[in-house]
Amino acid sequence: MSRTVLQDGFSAYAGAWEARISAFLQRDADALASAAALVAERAAGRDQSAASPLAGLPFAVKDNIAVAGMRLSCGSRLLDGLVSPYSATSVARLVAAGAVPAGKTNMDEFGMGSSTDCSAFGRTNNPWDETRVAGGSSGGSAAAVAAGLVPFALGSDTGGSVRQPACFCGVVGLKPTYGAVSRYGLVAYASSLETVGVVADGAARARSVLAAMRGADPLDQTSVEAPAGAPTLSPLSGREAESLTIGVLSAASVAKALAASADGEASAAGMLEPEVERAFEDAKDVLRSLGHRLVETELPSLKYGVPAYYTIATAEASANLARFDGIRYGNRPAYSENHDELVDGTRDAGFGDEVKLRILLGTFVLRSGFQDRYYLRAQRIRAGIRRDFERALSSCDAILMPVFPTRAFGRGDAGLSPFAQKAADLFTCCANLAGLPALAFPTGVSGGLPVGVQLVGRAFGEGLLLDAAEGYEAAVPIARPEGYRAYWGKA
Ligand code: GLN
Repeated sequence: MSRTVLQDGFSAYAGAWEARISAFLQRDADALASAAALVAERAAGRDQSAASPLAGLPFAVKDNIAVAGMRLSCGSRLLDGLVSPYSATSVARLVAAGAVPAGKTNMDEFGMGSSTDCSAFGRTNNPWDETRVAGGSSGGSAAAVAAGLVPFALGSDTGGSVRQPACFCGVVGLKPTYGAVSRYGLVAYASSLETVGVVADGAARARSVLAAMRGADPLDQTSVEAPAGAPTLSPLSGREAESLTIGVLSAASVAKALAASADGEASAAGMLEPEVERAFEDAKDVLRSLGHRLVETELPSLKYGVPAYYTIATAEASANLARFDGIRYGNRPAYSENHDELVDGTRDAGFGDEVKLRILLGTFVLRSGFQDRYYLRAQRIRAGIRRDFERALSSCDAILMPVFPTRAFGRGDAGLSPFAQKAADLFTCCANLAGLPALAFPTGVSGGLPVGVQLVGRAFGEGLLLDAAEGYEAAVPIARPEGYRAYWGKA
């Protein structure tokens, strides 16, 4: 097949998918099509030029991560029209490895949400069922990968925003150890919690992306090199995956934590959806059959994760988002009488309701005289959660957990209330509070929607988690939505 035929074929494929799911806010259709043609030629053996596993591969970038010359709106009207003059370190390192940034993806405004419905630029639909959300906040990145429009995408994970949408869309979502990947060029939401993460079409791909991106960066003082002796990120082929000791929470303690997190509300978030529970049980059997040892473990402070997370995240957000005042950043009103009116007008028109709510909440928990009651208490809980994980991970290599209590939910009344969505973050936000790596991977399809689980590991233990997920994939191949075509080959 000639290159033009290959390109036209991909363009039609991608155009049709994008019309259905709206994953992108900006898309370089030509770059994507020529990359697809290149990969096809390479697979046919006509072009052997691939030097690195990422050479020539296109990737999508969540719209809160800077790519030089592309938009950087964070899903917010306030930053609509902003074009980034520079690239994030994570992006620059992937470009240095030969990958090609080919678009910016939709997201909940400033990363605040679990559905991508809180974007100022419209919704993203789940490729498995367009009436359902893609998850969030990195919903555009997850949907783009799930539909096969790119082999991988970058997202940001502050409390689950890479893992939850990956799980909803049936792809792999990796939140690295805090500090393992530079945050330079990631627009800050809650700096002490967030990491740049990877959404990928398989664990092996996620591994090569992480290998290219990670490491200390002089532009981010919290970034660090992986310590000597950290599990390898070299490809699994040619070496044995280790058998892991995997800690599993008892069903009773999962149920207790969920009920506490949902504040006793008998909502969808107050218990595991039966399909999710079944997927979790099945995953245990598969992991056992792959030679891993499963042991019961406890994380007593899990149930305090959500309140601590939302206290800390909103406090940090209220400080981080202060820069969007129409002077330093942001679209300002055409006319204002004075400084205060300018700032008020900018923020009133620019921010959506969820962002305003969180800034108010953050200001409330930080107000003078009350820090002891909320913020400092949340920090103490955070320390407790970190200790809980440390203790559990001293006797096992990883902890197996659900990602989210439900599969991809519907919109409006068919979905989850904003409160239930927040309560449902309990399985994901704890890894952020503890700074640990966590990998969500698909385990199958139930009732027409993807289901998955996550493994939380020791700091810089991503290699072990990825190996385990790749082993799982070999036993249970990742299912793809109807109409998916594998353009990107094996990682
Ligand atoms: N659902 C979480 C929140 O709304 C996820 C945020 C994130 O990871 N960016 O805060």
